[in-house]
Amino acid sequence: MVTQAPSSDTSHLRYIRGIGPKRADALAKVGVHTVRDLLYYFPRRYEDRSHLSQISDLIPGQPTTIQGEILAVKFKPIRRMSIVEILIGDESGTLPAVWFNQPYLKNQFVEGEKVIFYGKVDLYQNRLQMSSPEYELIDPEEAAIHTGRITPVYPLTESLFQRSLRSLMKHLLEDEKAKHIHEYFPQPFRQEHDLMELSEAVESMHFPASFELLGRARQRIVFDEFLIFQILLLQKIERTKNKYTSFELKNAEDSLKAFTAKLPFILTRDQIKTTLEIAFDLQKATPMNRLLQGDVGSGKTVVAAFALYLAAKNGYQGAILVPTEILAEQHFRNLSGWLEPLGIRVGLLTSSTPKPRREKLIAEINQGKLSILAGTHALLQEDIQFQKLALLVIDEQHKFGVHQRNQLLGKNPRPHQLVMTATPIPRTLALTLYGDLDVSTIRELPKGRQPIKTYWITRKKQHLILQHIREKIEQGDQAYVIFPIIEESEKMDLLAAKQEYEKLRKGLLAGISIGLVHGKVESLERDRIMKSFQAGEIKVLVATSVIEVGVDNPNATMMVIENAERFGLSQLHQMRGRIGRGKKASECFLFGEPKTEEGSKRLRILTKTQDGFLIAEEDLKLRGPGDFWGTRQSGDPMFHTANPILDAPLLEQAKAAAHKILGEKLLENSKEWTELKAFLSSMAIRY
Ligand code: ADP
Ligand code: MG
Repeated sequence: MVTQAPSSDTSHLRYIRGIGPKRADALAKVGVHTVRDLLYYFPRRYEDRSHLSQISDLIPGQPTTIQGEILAVKFKPIRRMSIVEILIGDESGTLPAVWFNQPYLKNQFVEGEKVIFYGKVDLYQNRLQMSSPEYELIDPEEAAIHTGRITPVYPLTESLFQRSLRSLMKHLLEDEKAKHIHEYFPQPFRQEHDLMELSEAVESMHFPASFELLGRARQRIVFDEFLIFQILLLQKIERTKNKYTSFELKNAEDSLKAFTAKLPFILTRDQIKTTLEIAFDLQKATPMNRLLQGDVGSGKTVVAAFALYLAAKNGYQGAILVPTEILAEQHFRNLSGWLEPLGIRVGLLTSSTPKPRREKLIAEINQGKLSILAGTHALLQEDIQFQKLALLVIDEQHKFGVHQRNQLLGKNPRPHQLVMTATPIPRTLALTLYGDLDVSTIRELPKGRQPIKTYWITRKKQHLILQHIREKIEQGDQAYVIFPIIEESEKMDLLAAKQEYEKLRKGLLAGISIGLVHGKVESLERDRIMKSFQAGEIKVLVATSVIEVGVDNPNATMMVIENAERFGLSQLHQMRGRIGRGKKASECFLFGEPKTEEGSKRLRILTKTQDGFLIAEEDLKLRGPGDFWGTRQSGDPMFHTANPILDAPLLEQAKAAAHKILGEKLLENSKEWTELKAFLSSMAIRY
């Protein structure tokens, strides 16, 4: 979000040499609209190609950079194929490089000219060669771009190719940088915080002369992201302070007594603590803005239920917004179960609510006759005008975009807001990132829960696991088998889930009743399957990640996760949270063959701990906050380059600086800060 200029920037990419409409579109897809955006489109990683090897020293299998003279250019058409072969030589020897089916390359190379190759050397028919190396013809005038240096590797999208992007960047930095990047910190401030000059930092992020300089450049960019974020956040808090009033919800104590008297269980200490924190906020005439975080299964729903009950008891309305229909229905059942004995009626609204029912519901809501409504984003539609909405609860908050809920919050009196998440973020980080949110935390799980045993195993053992599952099912247990669905390859993934379902049904789980749910199953049908799973009629539920959030069946004690390496750490933890919810011991089996060290680490962490806070922290470390919330979720990543966990010391430093800049009103009163002030006002549009 932070470091990019708004699209009102006159220098649209279209006007840059080398960027046609097609490329401009591709860049727009990754959020790059202006020259400045592009200058801030930093490499994903770097390859050290700065050390040149001698041809005689080459070792098969290792990526290397070599430099030499072109000795021969050969072009061999072979039936439908073609091969371009270039022979290069240095003082120590010669080496061929080959390209298949790229005939135009033969015109790129001229005998006698100098060239740099970067790639892996292979042994082919007993001689060494490079196939399709990256290359660069050496123009003695120009510093090498692609090889012979620390080379940037950019995050790619469809039609953006590494080589052309690199060249484009090089020229952009030469021709345009001065026009678009202006230092906005005064010299003494930079000195105090030991910060590299901004345009130098931008340049070094792309083409660092050394890893040391790259480190300094990154430090500058990260500091800026944090500082700008903090300033905008503090300004926003200042702006909204005292702007809204809210309904005051009184008599929490009496209501809590009545509420707990009818509950089928006793609240945990953390549930009581958080309930009281919330009740304390709700009695005020200023809107609450509170995050309730607690691990999966910690019992957040009942805390929200009390807050909603309090709203109803005070004569107002409350709503709970959830990301999926399954979850909406489940909340509806729970809330009705807890609140109807207390005389409070609850409604359910999703996009599959039949029209007549919907109309009746809306009339009741708009007239204030219905106190509590549970639903999906369907309850954000315009014809729904709560007569006196005092509280909005948002469950699984990270699944929603920020803009989606503004519609209910823009009114005055403004509803109190309670957002709930099971992807906890460390408290200090939460405070820093959401400075305007108060945080309540449930750490303790309800009594009697047993730890989930988690195993990471090879899929070859599938039959053994399923045999085990069969036996447990005979003793009355239930199981989930989960398949990943990843957006780009949805069809294929869906097919895999369906095929496996058929295979299980006819094979290893024959004779056991199995259900299949995924995003494409029609909602009535899905509802029917979920209900019969909940009722224990279906013993094994084969599902895609649609069951990731919230679903609650305490009798399900086993879970198999297929292709576990394709899920993020937090997501796996969420899914695993569907089991271990009752009194019985539970087991989770991860099938996965990760290809990267990071992937293995994810699975290993899961087998070792069940602490959602720890897992979230590890996840942030491994992935960075950009992808922290997973691939499907909405909202801009908060930072492009910075990682609030790994860069925590810089975050603290930037936060202190932001407080100082605003506290001393430097932006208004000091000439030295006019550049930053101008920059911030251009940013504020996006924020
Ligand atoms: P989450 O925090 O993941 O949203 P839920 O609110 O769905 O968790 O609660 C998980 C399960 O624990 C539900 O079946 C709920 O009824 C049950 N539960 C909640 N609080 C308690 C408690 N204090 N004692 C026993 N069971 C509880
Ligand atoms: Mg929940």
